[in-house]
Amino acid sequence: MKDEFITFTIGRQKTIALIAHDGKKRELIEWCAENRDILKKHILCGTGTTARLVAEETGLPVKGFNSGPLGGDQQIGAKIVEGVVNFVVFFSDPLEAQPHDPDVKALLRIAQVYDIPIANNRATADFMIRSPLMDGEYEHKVINFRQNIIDRVNDKSQFV
Ligand code: PGA
Repeated sequence: MKDEFITFTIGRQKTIALIAHDGKKRELIEWCAENRDILKKHILCGTGTTARLVAEETGLPVKGFNSGPLGGDQQIGAKIVEGVVNFVVFFSDPLEAQPHDPDVKALLRIAQVYDIPIANNRATADFMIRSPLMDGEYEHKVINFRQNIIDRVNDKSQFV
């Protein structure tokens, strides 16, 4: 269908969101320290506690949103929707129940919808950060939401 997708560009300089559940924070801090020289070329943000710890322990500037359980994951999801955040490193803890599990699911889902690279463990993060695509622009196709709304409004039959 015409205009169903639009092309977005992930620029050479990425805006990277960093998130780690408590059981994975040490691992993410170590990963950020190991990859400091690459990460410093990009814009960094993260959920509150993760952002603060990474900034303190690596010296990298990391803009902090709210803490994850208080809506930080949702804020990062909204930044993906706005086209601001375009790369996510999220070390979730598969062995610990999270009070904000619905928010975690929502963030994973919205990253899929917007075709955003997202690493949920260290091996994936290693492969992603060493990809040649880190040093260039990347074009990807995302659902055209403006057209999607027009199509949905025009197809009023589904609302009656
Ligand atoms: P935090 O949030 O960085 O504030 O701990 C992370 C999360 O649990 O989503």
